[in-house]
Amino acid sequence: MSTTPDRIADIWGPRTPHEGPGWPVRVDQNLEEEPDRWVQAACFLCSNGCGLDIGVKDDRPGGRMVGVRGKATDVVNRGRLGPKGLYGWVANASTDRLTTPLIRRGDRLEPVVGLPSGQALLLVNPMQPLATGPVFAAWDGVDRGPLGTGDPLAAARAGRNDLEAPATAVLPVIAEVLASLRASAGADLVRMSGSGATCFALFDNIESRDLAARRLASQYPDWWQLPTRLR
Ligand code: SF4
Repeated sequence: MSTTPDRIADIWGPRTPHEGPGWPVRVDQNLEEEPDRWVQAACFLCSNGCGLDIGVKDDRPGGRMVGVRGKATDVVNRGRLGPKGLYGWVANASTDRLTTPLIRRGDRLEPVVGLPSGQALLLVNPMQPLATGPVFAAWDGVDRGPLGTGDPLAAARAGRNDLEAPATAVLPVIAEVLASLRASAGADLVRMSGSGATCFALFDNIESRDLAARRLASQYPDWWQLPTRLR
């Protein structure tokens, strides 16, 4: 089992200048255990989309990720991987990783109980850049308090996203996304997610969600969308 030397301490690794007929191959890898098999994939942690192989150990149903290695044949990286590609996946199995939603109660975070599971969900993004900094700069800075207690869905319906107004002021198309989702039959709860610009709607049923997804795809072909479910 071999692992590329610490690429957090030495971000670039050995220099291999891109000169002459071709960029030299240098296959980087980070393996925690010897895998049973390799699965061809790509790193999605930035827009380079470096091709890589995922090392999988088959010691539990569905397998377990134990490493990554670059692909010598990839035209983008010729085997190189950056620190995010090499180490980002390790966080997935970290014991520090949050695996359940938490809600603020005063100065404490508590697990949310009673969340609906399996409810139809549609995510939509207008595919226009929105930096987080300007959204927070446009926020009025007023802390309007946490979500209410009791049934989480009822609390969410009664709640709000305080960044929706400043984000919409910076990127007005968000208002159009929200209005389009609210106009969809069967849409239950519609909000902007986080600091934007992705918005979501919960639907009464899968059919209503898919109908809305088809209508939006035809009306706004440049928008990204993901029909899915709450887990
Ligand atoms: S390995 Fe680094 S450069 Fe390549 S896609 Fe991932 S984050 Fe981007």
